[in-house]
Amino acid sequence: MTDTPEVFTGNFTQQEPIAEDAIAAAVAVLRSGRLHRYNTVPGEAGEVALLEEEFAALTGARYCLAVASGGYALGCALRALGVAPGDAVLTNGFTLAPVPGAIAALGAQPVFVEITGDLVIDMDDLAAKARASGARVLMLSHMRGHICDMDALMQVAQAHDLQVIEDCAHTMGAAWAGVPSGRHGVIGCYSTQTYKHMNSGEGGLIVSDDAALMAKMILLSGSYMMYPRHRAAPGPEAFEALKYDTPNISGRMDNLRAAILRPQIPTLAGRIARWNALYRRLEAGLAATPGLRLIPRPQAESYVASSFQFLLPGWDAARITAFVARAAARGVELKWFGAAEPAGFTSRYDSWRYAAPQSLPVTDRVLAGLLDLRLPLTFTEADAAQIARIIDAEARG
Ligand SMILES: *Cc1c(COP(=O)(O)O)cnc(C)c1O
Repeated sequence: MTDTPEVFTGNFTQQEPIAEDAIAAAVAVLRSGRLHRYNTVPGEAGEVALLEEEFAALTGARYCLAVASGGYALGCALRALGVAPGDAVLTNGFTLAPVPGAIAALGAQPVFVEITGDLVIDMDDLAAKARASGARVLMLSHMRGHICDMDALMQVAQAHDLQVIEDCAHTMGAAWAGVPSGRHGVIGCYSTQTYKHMNSGEGGLIVSDDAALMAKMILLSGSYMMYPRHRAAPGPEAFEALKYDTPNISGRMDNLRAAILRPQIPTLAGRIARWNALYRRLEAGLAATPGLRLIPRPQAESYVASSFQFLLPGWDAARITAFVARAAARGVELKWFGAAEPAGFTSRYDSWRYAAPQSLPVTDRVLAGLLDLRLPLTFTEADAAQIARIIDAEARG
């Protein structure tokens, strides 16, 4: 009997369907005709205002604002902090395109900071680049859900007078030493785009405890003079000094998407447990693979493993290309951050050529061996174990 190599048949981009209660809530909004967040009848709060209240409670934040996308949330946070054209803004050398894009949209300059072999920001390079650039803001990207030592990071930030915006697109529901991701910096930004931890197609959420910043972000998002209808918001006094001087840069969330998201808040913890179970299956299946390095997860990090990364340190490009092709032939779709050309979501800092050219030799070395795969919740633990067997076999091959 000959062994036919097993082939994985799952779909790496297939998310779970929207749950029936969320569909019913969405249909109710459609039937009402009142899709705009400020189109409410007397006594009605509106789905968006309720979502903001519920997400503030989930994260323990005083204030929350729902917006059109994660990228919009990042730009809104930068504007609220007064980032002006020409300003340097620090961010991770390993992140996703909407992060440097939000910086560039303000005419500001992304300054990329090296990452470590554990895929998090390098504290020494952060300190050095803060000094050299004079930046006042760090947009910290918890890329692929890997959280740096947040206590150490906030110390570096304080020492260099940096305000921290957290990009929590991959860490909604995660925490460092018990503090929810997004609650260490002055502003936390989340995405509810389809591939993130809550799914409304597109969408973003912003949290902060700072009344003046939140009032400014609410005005920026396009609240006209309807801001008193917000619930997870500071009182009217916070808006008085700002309301004549803050431009309306429309980026509101609508009631339809909020209705889809609200039922996903109470089910987030359950989904996190399922993502992490898939992750542990993969981790266990690859623990003994020669030449493959897993990313250590610190004790203090409560992660949400909606994706999986591993490194092939020292493998040359031809060997990784062949490995990725063999895995693909067996149904395992791996994204490689070291490829010469950006493809899909794998763009690198050097593909964002609107930013000044920068050299990050450590990040280059890490990304050259970095492989990434999604873990949608349509996968079972048996699927995760099979994916690990295929990666293990092909890494040995
Ligand atoms: C998805 C994502 C964002 C925000 O993206 P939107 O598509 O605008 O919601 C920001 N940062 C990272 C790292 C992301 O993956």
